[in-house]
Amino acid sequence: MNPSFSAAEEAFRQEARIWLIESLRSVGYDAMSWRERLDTDFCMRWERHMGASGWTGLSWPKEYGGRALPLVQQVIFQEEYARAEAPILWNSMAHGILAPTLMYYGTESQKKRFLPGILSNEERWCQGYSEPGAGSDLAALATRAERISDARGDRYVVTGQKVWTSVAQFAHWCFILVRSDPKSSRHKGISFLLLDMKSRGVTVRPLRQMTGESEFNEVFFDGVEVPVENRVGEEGQGWEIAMTAANHERGTFFVPMLVSMQSELRDLVKLARTTPSDGRPAIEDPLIQDKLAQLYMDVSVMRLNSYRTLETLMQGRPPGPEASFTKLFWSEVRQRMLELAMDILGPQAMLAWTDPQAAAGGRWQREHLWSRAITILAATSEIHRNIIAERGLGMPR
Ligand SMILES: Cc1cc2nc3c(=O)[nH]c(=O)nc-3n(C[C@H](O)[C@H](O)[C@H](O)COP(=O)(O)OP(=O)(O)OC[C@H]3O[C@@H](n4cnc5c(N)ncnc54)[C@H](O)[C@@H]3O)c2cc1C
Repeated sequence: MNPSFSAAEEAFRQEARIWLIESLRSVGYDAMSWRERLDTDFCMRWERHMGASGWTGLSWPKEYGGRALPLVQQVIFQEEYARAEAPILWNSMAHGILAPTLMYYGTESQKKRFLPGILSNEERWCQGYSEPGAGSDLAALATRAERISDARGDRYVVTGQKVWTSVAQFAHWCFILVRSDPKSSRHKGISFLLLDMKSRGVTVRPLRQMTGESEFNEVFFDGVEVPVENRVGEEGQGWEIAMTAANHERGTFFVPMLVSMQSELRDLVKLARTTPSDGRPAIEDPLIQDKLAQLYMDVSVMRLNSYRTLETLMQGRPPGPEASFTKLFWSEVRQRMLELAMDILGPQAMLAWTDPQAAAGGRWQREHLWSRAITILAATSEIHRNIIAERGLGMPR
C-alpha cells in the first residue's frame, strides 16, 4: 500500500526534485565523493544557498517569510531531499524545534529579530538542554539564571554546564533551559532563554566521538549575561515550552531518515553482491539473505508507520506514542542494518573508516560507529519504550 498524492502534490514533488538536481549539480555535489560530502563548511554554504533560494521555511506562514505550504508538501520536500542524498542540514534544530516555538510563544520583536536569520540560515543555533546530571531526567537540570536589575538593565546571569550540545562550535546562538528560580525543583522554575554564543563567559569544548569526529560539545557558562527580552514565554514557563518544542521535533523529523534508509538498504544489497565471502559473493550466503530480507520488511513497515504519523499530524492531532514508535524502530533497524554491513565486509570491516583502503571510502565503518548514538539522541530507546507503554498501551508506571 502506498499513500496517494494529488496532482498538485505530484507537481510540487517534480518542482522540488528538479530544483535539487540542478542546484546540487551547480555546486559540484554530484562529482564529490561520499567523504567530501561530509565537509561541514560545504554543508553550511549549501544551507545558506537553500535559504537564499527560498527552499527553507516551506511550512512557515507567509508573514514570517515562509511559503505556507501544507504539511504534506513539506514532507514531500523532505522525501525528495533524502532521495537526492543532499547535504547534512546543520541548522535543523533551529528549523525543527526553535522556529515553531518562537512562532507560538515568542514576542513580536523576538520573531522579527530571530526568524529571518533562521530562514536564511545565516544564524545557526544549538540546543542547550542536557547536562551532566540531567539527560533523560531533564527536569533535574541545574544551570542557574539569576535575574539582576540595575542601571545596566534587566538581565539574567547564567552559570552552569551543558553537555552533548551538537554543533555548538558552529552556532551563533543557543536556545537553553535554565533554572531561574533557585528555590524551585524539577519542572517548576525553569525558563527558556536565547543566548548569544559570542557572549563573554561562554566556553565550548568539542568532545571527540568514536568516529574520531567532534560533532557535539561541552559548553560552560560562567556568569553569561542574557537580556530579559531574550526569554521566551514567561519566567518559569520553560518546561511547558520545551515539551511543546519536543513535539515539533518528534513530528516529521524522521521522514527523511526513513527515505535515506531505503537507499542505504539498496546500497547494502550492492555491497553484498560485490563483496566476496568464502570465494563467492556474500549475497549467496543464506544467512546474509535472511537478514537482508528481514531488513527489507522492517524498512517497509517503517515507511508505512511514518505515513501513519503523518496522517495523525494532518488531522491536526499532536504526534503521540506513534512518534516514539517510529523513532525507536528506525534507530534499532538502522543499527541492525549497519551491523549487517560489518558482517558482509568481514575482515575488511576491521579497517578504520579513515583508512585509504577501507571499502566505499570507509562509509560503512563510519556509519556503523555513528549509529551507536541514534538509540540515545532525541530520547533513548528505554525512554521511548516507557512512553509507548504508559501513554500508548496505558500500562501502569
Ligand atoms: C549524537 C547526540 C547528539 C545530542 N545532541 C544534543 C543536543 O544538541 N542538545 C542537548 O541538549 N542534548 C543532546 N544530546 C543528549 C541526549 O538528549 C541525551 O544523551 C539523552 O537524553 C540521554 O541522556 P544521558 O546521556 O544523560 O543518559 P541518561 O539519562 O543518564 O541515561 C543512561 C541510561 O539510563 C537509561 N534510563 C534513564 N532513565 C530511565 C528511565 N526512566 N527508565 C528506563 N531507563 C532509563 C537510559 O535509557 C540510558 O540507557 C545528544 C546526544 C547524542 C547521543
